[in-house]
Amino acid sequence: MSQHAPAYPRRSLARYLIDATKSLVTGLGITGRYLAHPKEVVTREYPDNRTQLRFAERFRGPVTMPHDEAGEHRCTACGLCEKACPNGTISILATRNLADKRVLGQLVYHLGQCSFCGLCVEACPFDALRMSHEFELASDQKADFERVLNHKEGR
Ligand code: SF4
Ligand code: SF4
Repeated sequence: MSQHAPAYPRRSLARYLIDATKSLVTGLGITGRYLAHPKEVVTREYPDNRTQLRFAERFRGPVTMPHDEAGEHRCTACGLCEKACPNGTISILATRNLADKRVLGQLVYHLGQCSFCGLCVEACPFDALRMSHEFELASDQKADFERVLNHKEGR
């Protein structure tokens, strides 16, 4: 016997026109305000402004390994970042130097798997990793998604 009530109450045509007009006026008001105050415009004219783009400090791009002026990084090949990574994006290939000390052979970063969570950076006790501000990562070359972050063996 009972008919289901409509999920939303039906609006009269007059009500609909009033709401639509209000919405239109609000939108035009915002457009007019930005026309009058161009410095407040938040829309980024990407990609024309590529060189002036500024990122929030917390922006997470691909993982990177900073090197100092002498070309040295801070990694000790401890492997904690590899363990902290939830999806196997980092592979630590350790080796031994002439003094038989364990050193980093390669830190292989499988960029295509990275979720940019930052857990590897947090896990590193030597502050050897950073989330970069790199963007525009699209590529049709598979090799672009397999990176070795250190410059050479032991460094
Ligand atoms: S950012 Fe996250 S997913 Fe990417 S390498 Fe680090 S821990 Fe792994
Ligand atoms: S980057 Fe940091 S956590 Fe990863 S192996 Fe090197 S020292 Fe250890």
